[in-house]
Amino acid sequence: MCEQCSGLIPVVKLKSQYEYFELLEQLRGMLTRKSIRLVDSTCDLEEVKPDGIWANDYIEHVFACTECGQHFHLGVEPYHGSGGTWEPTERSTRWLSHKKGTNQVNY
Ligand SMILES: [Zn+2]
Repeated sequence: MCEQCSGLIPVVKLKSQYEYFELLEQLRGMLTRKSIRLVDSTCDLEEVKPDGIWANDYIEHVFACTECGQHFHLGVEPYHGSGGTWEPTERSTRWLSHKKGTNQVNY
């Protein structure tokens, strides 16, 4: 982690969809400023909105810091209302196991 991404709190348990979207808003701003980039996702970031139709049971996005390359994983289970998690991760391939049409290796 570097100065640019150290502001992203290491591990966050998102207790509600409200917290999830609040974080998402922050991430969208960082994407616009090119502080982070989207590495992989189970659906388009634009599709994820409070009143939108959820594409999957489990939505995941993997971001990377454009400065040091640190990966961050954001996962949320919209249908279960359990919020989600945000955490730094070493490998993006470990995630996105729910992605349709792919056979990911389970680590
Ligand atoms: Zn960084």
